[in-house]
This record gives sequence, structure tokens and C-alpha cells, in this order.
Amino acid sequence: MTEMTPLAQRLADVDARIGEAARANGRDPGDLTRIVVTKFHPASLVRELHELGVRDMGENRQQELSGKAVEVADLRDLRWHFIGQAQTNKARAIRRAASAVHSVDRARLVDALDAAAEPGDDPLDVLVQVNLTDDAGRGGAEPDQLVPLAERIVAAATLRLRGVMAVAPLDEPAGPAFERLAGLAERVRAVAPEARWISAGMTGDFAEAIACGATHLRIGSAITGPRPVRA
Ligand SMILES: *Cc1c(COP(=O)(O)O)cnc(C)c1O
Repeated sequence: MTEMTPLAQRLADVDARIGEAARANGRDPGDLTRIVVTKFHPASLVRELHELGVRDMGENRQQELSGKAVEVADLRDLRWHFIGQAQTNKARAIRRAASAVHSVDRARLVDALDAAAEPGDDPLDVLVQVNLTDDAGRGGAEPDQLVPLAERIVAAATLRLRGVMAVAPLDEPAGPAFERLAGLAERVRAVAPEARWISAGMTGDFAEAIACGATHLRIGSAITGPRPVRA
């Protein structure tokens, strides 16, 4: 047997922990999508991950996403998930590169992503990012904006509402916050029953997210190793 690279080892370890957390909660690991967040890392890492079977990659900055997507454009079966703050004037570039945008947090961004479609484009999968903290600066829509935003997305011809996304607050345990997210996800399903994605869980809290119903995990450093310092 050939020896596993450190990257392959970390990926296998995380997948084993995902499997354990799923089974511990009576869930099928096959129902979970593990997105590897490659931000700060070079496109060569994306290639290595692809060779290891990873197909879902995440980026949080438009320029970095667009650059890497071009560098690995030959990997036809990759799915890029955009998970960062999006400026409306970058909507077209994000749409060109990503198959899903997890971080839709305001009406203007819904409109910009919809308007950025070109004839013949597939619908773009979008999630509403919700702010689980009391700090309005933390990113994400306030919970009372969730249903109006979901309705606006449903009305947008070129967008497909998939569900909700959140980042756990820094100042409270992740579990209760992810439970609140599960309740908010239910409100969205009352608007759009097929919007079943819950994007939650990072390196430090993916087991808690799985326990609370997460379907899409966004895991960076546990798999990629420490992020290089950005120049
Ligand atoms: C960077 C990032 C992640 C992954 O973080 P890790 O702690 O390295 O797993 C997940 N979600 C978002 C929105 C991020 O920006």
C-alpha cells in the first residue's frame, strides 16, 4: 500500500469524524456534502484535492474564486461554493465562477445575482446567510429579514433557493446557535419546501452542526492545514 500524503490523511480523518457524528445522530453520512474551503491556498491544492475525489470547493473572496476557477477550468466536475461577503458589482463575476452562493444577505444582492444571468445559464443555487449574533456587523441577514429575502429569491427567475447558511457566533457555544438556525431553516421551508440545505459547521464545530441538521459543511484548515498568510 502506498503511503497517504498528509493532505489525504487529514481528509480521511475529517471524513471519518463526519461519519461518526452523522451516525451518532442517526443520520446517513451520504446525505452530507463536505465542502473544502481552499481560501488563501494555491490552485495546486485544488488539483490535489480533486485527485483525492473532492468535488465541492469553497472560497470567500470573489477575486480569489475567479482566479482559481480559471486556473483549474479543465476540472469540469468541480463545484465552487461562494461563502463570503459579496459586493453587488461583483455579482456577474461570482455567477460566472460559482455554482452556489451561500452568502446572500440582502435584497440588492438577490437582484444583482439575478440580473447577472446570461441567456442559457443554469439557475444559480443560493442560500440566505443569517446572522446568529446580536452584532449587526457580523454579516448575514437579521432573522426577521429571512422570509422576505427567501420570497424575493423564489420570485427571481434565474435563482434557485436552496436553504440557509450561518457561521457560529464567537461568544457562545455553537450547539444552541445551530439549533436556532435549524428553526430558521424551517421558516424558509414554509416558503419553499425544496429549500432543504443547511450550510453550517467549520473546522471547530462541524460535529455540533451535524447534530443540528446541517447538510453542507464548510471545512477549511482541518483538511488543508494552516492557511498561508495572505500577502
Ligand atoms: C474560512 C471559512 C470557513 C472554513 O473555516 P475553517 O475554520 O478553516 O474550517 C467556513 N466558512 C466560512 C464562511 C469561511 O470564511
